[in-house]
Amino acid sequence: MTYQSIILGTGPAGLTAAVYLARANMEPLVIEGPEPGGQLTLTTEVENFPGFPDGIMGPELMDNMKKQAERFGATFKRGWVTEVNVDQRPFKLNVDGLGELETQTLIISTGASAKMLEIPGEKENMGRGVSTCATCDGFFFRGKKVLIVGGGDSAMEEANFLTKFANEVQVIHRRHELRASKIMQDRAKGNDKITWALNKTPVEMISDGMKITGLKVKDNDTEVEEVIETDGIFVAIGHNPNTEFLQGKINMDEKGYILVEPGTTNTNIPGIFACGDVQDQKYRQAITAAGTGCMAAMDSERFLEGEATIDWSQNLS
Ligand code: NAP
Repeated sequence: MTYQSIILGTGPAGLTAAVYLARANMEPLVIEGPEPGGQLTLTTEVENFPGFPDGIMGPELMDNMKKQAERFGATFKRGWVTEVNVDQRPFKLNVDGLGELETQTLIISTGASAKMLEIPGEKENMGRGVSTCATCDGFFFRGKKVLIVGGGDSAMEEANFLTKFANEVQVIHRRHELRASKIMQDRAKGNDKITWALNKTPVEMISDGMKITGLKVKDNDTEVEEVIETDGIFVAIGHNPNTEFLQGKINMDEKGYILVEPGTTNTNIPGIFACGDVQDQKYRQAITAAGTGCMAAMDSERFLEGEATIDWSQNLS
């Protein structure tokens, strides 16, 4: 069987694309990867997704989107895409657990994963004081002290943002010099709620069993370890787009983010569309991802409509 559309990824972008395509009777197949629901399933309450005046838990929001897509006829299957042949249509995908699949259009919404420190106490305290998204979780630290790990533009931007809520924001960075652009550094350095712990490597996140209480760091010159007390730790050391399986097949920037034609979700391969964080390192919000998911569904539908007169049994490469 050849699908009209296969969607890779089940974050807000992929699920929104699924709702739109399913409602357009395109019976999309949605492949759920190793992190069903995407980054929102790693957070707790989502208060900035419009339509939920009292907020909604991240996993519940994603579950609702999935049910909405299923209601209109989207099919979900678990699998891991190992190979994509983009040289001819229908596109062919090798998916671990599902074998070879064929599709006329492909929507890539595999997201980006926040880089983690990979230190003890980090994983188990995600959502209990450890976060990778200041925009999502900063609000919960009103009047508290938080740490932000990283020395790039994201860390500076998030440190400034967090001072709207927290009483003190301390930046922990592993070198004396920051990587961030001068303007972002100056802005952060000019903010008197921001303090600095430079040349320190995070070693362990400490909790009282319920929530984060501190971060153990090691001074890189003296090797002396200390515990910095805190109510929350924001990890802002960059993101990796989940595009390894597409290397060399589709146009990407040097970091692996898929390039799309501005104002659309079109990639350089006709019939392949990208939406959500896999093509966005600027906004990275659930609502912006959902918006581009809608765009990808509409681009995909119109692409097929435009080719409706073509005999799909022909090889179109
Ligand atoms: P980034 O520029 O790659 O910076 C990552 C930071 O995290 C670096 O300071 C790095 O330290 C540190 N780091 C990486 N791995 C670490 C580890 N294992 N332990 C401790 N520290 C670690 O990432 P980003 O800040 O997310 O920015 C990504 C891109 O988006 C950049 O091009 C940036 O300019 C852009 N951006 C722009 C804006 C804006 O203009 N408003 C805002 C956000 C992001 P080292 O410095 O020692 O390598």
